[in-house]
Amino acid sequence: MIGKIFSSLTKDIGIDLGTANTLVYVKGRGIIINEPSVIAINQKTGQILAIGNEAKKMVGRTPSHIVATRPLVEGVISDFEATEQMLRYFINKAYEKSWAIMPRPRVVVGIPSGCTEVEKRAVEDAARSAGAREVYLVEEPMAASIGARLPVQEAVGNMIVDIGGGTSEVAVISLGGIVVCRSLRIAGDKMNNDIIQYARDEHKMLLGEKTAEDIKISIGSAYPQDEKLEFMMRGRDLISGLPKEVLLNDTQVRHALSRSVKTLLRSIKDTVEETPPELITDLMERGIVLAGGGALLRGLDKLIAEETTMPVKIAEDPLTAVVRGCGIVLEDVDALKEVLISTQYDAPPR
Ligand code: ADP
Ligand code: MG
Repeated sequence: MIGKIFSSLTKDIGIDLGTANTLVYVKGRGIIINEPSVIAINQKTGQILAIGNEAKKMVGRTPSHIVATRPLVEGVISDFEATEQMLRYFINKAYEKSWAIMPRPRVVVGIPSGCTEVEKRAVEDAARSAGAREVYLVEEPMAASIGARLPVQEAVGNMIVDIGGGTSEVAVISLGGIVVCRSLRIAGDKMNNDIIQYARDEHKMLLGEKTAEDIKISIGSAYPQDEKLEFMMRGRDLISGLPKEVLLNDTQVRHALSRSVKTLLRSIKDTVEETPPELITDLMERGIVLAGGGALLRGLDKLIAEETTMPVKIAEDPLTAVVRGCGIVLEDVDALKEVLISTQYDAPPR
């Protein structure tokens, strides 16, 4: 009874600590934060200048002593302290926004699969020092699958491909656990870089990262499109140094992205090959679910379906699948306990 009152007053939160975006879900309220995973630091003083939306605006516009970085860019925690600061900032912000009465929530954090023990501990400590009463970690492919409402605890094989900013994760899940998993560094960022490289090689133009991403989202594709798409690419001429514009079409961009797309496809096939035979039968029937922002690349679902001869579905609202999965875990931690990863670490008594 007391526990019940306690949990109705506390605003438990779920966090998707993504390489590109951090999302926070508050129990009973839904997703209340969705901001880029960026932190701007003054290197001279070590002072944090901005986090999230504010920090992203600074990317590429800072004087040399200020760095705006993405601490999770490689999917693993490349900048420990910055990650901790970011996590703390988002937890506190979620708090302010949700008018929580009881200050110490339970927190479920989605972390990249393949995080080391040290990294897990860092996330856990950060969440605790930001005020969490209990911290649960769940691997992102698992959270994404739960968010996509796949029956992860049943004795059937489920396949999820989560294409984020820094990493893509390909996983087969059954009976509450990850059976096979691959993580690769070919994801949204790499695709942006492919476009930058293409502009440089083919048009002698220098593009900013933001422009490259706009091009990808506006006209990028993995499969030939029925209608022709065009984008006026604006950048700087590498030779004259002056502004330049070139009209791009979807075929050109598809070619620019094709190598990365092929590598992703290769990983999916390899993962299928590693899957135990009983589960393959399930996968053939149930198919592959795509999540993460990269799932929205035009025709990627069609291409994967054609190449694997398996049905492919895009998760509903793929960018929020992980955090919604964390939210579902929060609603019933006891029932979903087996999907959480245990850290071999007991928090010091407070
Ligand atoms: P992470 O989980 O690593 O934070 P997200 O799942 O938030 O990543 O996805 C971010 C990536 O998705 C970015 O690289 C972004 O460019 C890409 N993205 C978002 N929307 C689209 C779209 N419509 N088409 C292709 N890529 C997209
Ligand atoms: Mg993600």
